[in-house]
Amino acid sequence: GQVAFITGGGSGIGFRIAEIFMRHGCRTVIASRNLQRVSEASKKLVAATGQQCLPLSVDVRQPQTIVAAVDEALKEFKRIDILVNGAAGNFLCPASALSFNAFKTVIDIDTIGTFNTSKVLFEKYFRDHGGVIVNITATLSYRGQALQVHAGTAKAAIDAMTRHLAVEWGPNNIRVNSLAPGPITGTEGYRRLGGRFAEEASQFDMIPLQRAGNKTEIAHSTLYLASCLSSYVTGTTLVVDGGSWLTSANNFPALLGIASSSAK
Ligand code: NAP
Repeated sequence: GQVAFITGGGSGIGFRIAEIFMRHGCRTVIASRNLQRVSEASKKLVAATGQQCLPLSVDVRQPQTIVAAVDEALKEFKRIDILVNGAAGNFLCPASALSFNAFKTVIDIDTIGTFNTSKVLFEKYFRDHGGVIVNITATLSYRGQALQVHAGTAKAAIDAMTRHLAVEWGPNNIRVNSLAPGPITGTEGYRRLGGRFAEEASQFDMIPLQRAGNKTEIAHSTLYLASCLSSYVTGTTLVVDGGSWLTSANNFPALLGIASSSAK
């Protein structure tokens, strides 16, 4: 009976989060820049689950588009209980080759986009009704992952934001947590960041659980953070990576090889 607003809900991890939430009786709003993408995704989600799903166009870098989408969602559903900030952009690039604009764009989408969306939801609904925010981050900054200064910095800032907002908004009955996935098969992130290469090179043998994760595992963990099962959990980051960040090699030369072959 709840309603979840999921940015980046038209593809990859965000899509599976929407599906799993809907299978648990939730209605969803899936929002990203490409309206055709979210509209097609919405049709699939409704057909698979029988729940309602409203597709909306949003650019998280532009607060007025978020305001318009949240207004439309509230008109349709009268409530929003959960916000999942999943919208992001990423690619492999050494810091030395990264343009000023490329670095800024990733910060704009991931970090500032997460703040913009959280603030709009706070003002429009959560301040008076409470709510739950789950920010999808990453483990990239934990060991200074090579070729990931842009995304690692952006996601680390979101983990900080999670704690700040958990403190400030806790009294409004708003819980704020992050979920940091490891390598997740069948996603754009996996394709762009060398997942296939790592698989072929048996690099996942290094992960304590000895494999990549899947989208359903991330969706189930997000469901935990969004549901009342985690009612006393706020301001934390749940790492869902099979222990990957603890043991995986930070292989600079291999990543450079992947980056240059995917640029060809
Ligand atoms: P994905 O399918 O590319 O998802 C990213 C989504 O963000 C897309 O649906 C995209 O839709 C949306 N988006 C991008 N820029 C946007 C903007 N300015 N405004 C609104 N929406 C925007 O990638 P994914 O691999 O499933 O990743 C999903 C999340 O998990 C991301 O936060 C990512 O950093 C995180 N993550 C993934 C992995 C992994 O292994 N895949 C690992 C760690 C963390 P439009 O193009 O239509 O805007």
